[in-house]
Amino acid sequence: PDRYQGRRVVVLGLARSGVAVAELLHRRGADVVVNDKKERSSCPEADPLSALGISVVCGHHPDDLIDENVALVVKNPGIPYSIPPIRRALELGIEIVTEVEVADAVRRSPMIGITGSNGKTTTTTLVHLILKQDGQGAIVAGNIGRALTEAALEARPDEWLVTELSSFQLKGTVGFRPNIACLLNLYETHLDYHGTMDDYAASKAKLFANQTADDTAVFNWDDPFCRSLAPRLSARPFPFSSKEPLEQGVYIQNGVIRVADGNREPEELMPVREIAVRGGHNAENAIAAAAVALSAGASPESVRTVLRTFRGVEHRLEFVLEKDGIAYYNDSKATNPTATSKSIESFDGGDIVLVCGGLDRGSDYMELLPVFERSVKAVVALGEAREKLLRVAELAGVAKRTAVDAADPEEAVRLAAEAARGFAEPGQTVLLSPACASWDMFPSYEDRGRMFKHSVHTL
Ligand code: ADP
Repeated sequence: PDRYQGRRVVVLGLARSGVAVAELLHRRGADVVVNDKKERSSCPEADPLSALGISVVCGHHPDDLIDENVALVVKNPGIPYSIPPIRRALELGIEIVTEVEVADAVRRSPMIGITGSNGKTTTTTLVHLILKQDGQGAIVAGNIGRALTEAALEARPDEWLVTELSSFQLKGTVGFRPNIACLLNLYETHLDYHGTMDDYAASKAKLFANQTADDTAVFNWDDPFCRSLAPRLSARPFPFSSKEPLEQGVYIQNGVIRVADGNREPEELMPVREIAVRGGHNAENAIAAAAVALSAGASPESVRTVLRTFRGVEHRLEFVLEKDGIAYYNDSKATNPTATSKSIESFDGGDIVLVCGGLDRGSDYMELLPVFERSVKAVVALGEAREKLLRVAELAGVAKRTAVDAADPEEAVRLAAEAARGFAEPGQTVLLSPACASWDMFPSYEDRGRMFKHSVHTL
C-alpha cells in the first residue's frame, strides 16, 4: 500500500474513477498531478481536488507532463494509448495502469472480477444478489456501481468486492489478482480501441495472469478462446458449460443445471426453465453466476432463489409494454452484432420488427444475417451504421426495410410500430437492439433506452 509514498503519479482523465484514485494516492502520500484535456469549466471535480492540495491541469496535455520523475501513470480506461502523454510514458518505460491495479493493491477484502464481451452486468448483478441472499457482505464496483478504489477502501475485510471489469480496464493491469475471476466469452468487439483481436484477447486473459492455486478461475468451456486458456491457468479451474457435462464446474444437461466438484457425484441445482430471465445467453450468465457464487461459498439454495426471481437489468431485453397486441422490448445495451443476434435468438424464432443502428465501429454486421433470415421481418435502421445494416437486411430477404434520419429517433419507433401493425398475425414484437454504440446520437446507451421507452409510452 505504501508503494506510492513520495512518488510522482500522473492521473489522466477526470472521471469518477480518476477522482477516486487521485484522492486515494494523495492520501497515501503520493505527489499527484491530475490532467484532463477538457476545459476546467466542464470539470466540476477539479476544484475539490485542488482544495485537497492536488495539482489539477485542465484544457490540454502539457508537453512536460511526463518526464523521468513520474513513477506511475493511472489512466482512465477509455483514453487510447496513442495520445502524446501516454506515448511519452511508454517511451520512458513508466508503468501505465488503470484504477483496477490501484484498487487491487490497496484492498483488504476478497475480490471477484467478472469480464467478457457480453453479459458482464447481468452476471455481476446476479452474483451480487446471490451473495446478499446468502447473507454475505458484498459491494458491486467497477463498470457498474461505485468507483473501484472507493469501494476497495470502504469494504470490510469480510465483504466481497464484486467487480465488473472491461478489457480497457484489464489492459492497464500488472499485478492484479482477483480471488475469483470469471471470463464469460470473447467476441469480436472493441477493435477500434484494441486494434487487433490478439490485443483484446490478451487484455481479457490478464484476468487470470497472477492467480495462484488459492484462487478460482471460472470460464466458459463452450467458448473456444476461453477454453484455450485452461492449460495455462494456475488457479483452480471451475468452468461452466451449457452444452456438455464437466468433471468439475457447472453445466446444463437435459434441461437441468448440475454442479460437479470433481470428487462426488454431480448435484442437481435446478431445471433451466426455472431461470426467470429470458434467452439462452442469460442461461449462460446464470450458470456463470452460479459457478462464481458457489466458489464464494454461497449455498445452492441461495443460487436457486435468485435465479428463480431475477428478471433482468434495465436496457437488457427489458420488457416495456404491450399495446394493440404488440410487445415492445428495450435492449439498448446490445452495442455489438453478437449481442443483438443473441437477443433476437431469445425470441424463439418469433417474427420481429427490429430497430437498430448507431455508431459504426467497424463491426461485422454480416454476423446478423442468419438471425435476420430466421426471425426478422422488418428493420428500421438509424444512425451512422444504418446503410450497412439495411444491406444485411436486404441480403437476408427482409421484406420491409426503412432508413430513418439520424436526427429523429422517435420517428424510428413510430415507423416500427406502424410496420408491426401492418402484419396480419397477432403477437408482434418490436425490439430495440441496436448492434451499435449510441454515441453518434445519444450521450449513452441508457439515454437511448430511455428515449425508446418514452417514445413507446407516448405512441
Ligand atoms: P455487458 O455488461 O457485458 O455489456 P450485459 O449483461 O449488460 O452485458 O448485456 C448486454 C447485452 O448483451 C444483452 O442485452 C444481450 O443482448 C447480450 N448478452 C448478454 N449476455 C450475453 C452472453 N452471455 N452472450 C452473448 N450475448 C449476451
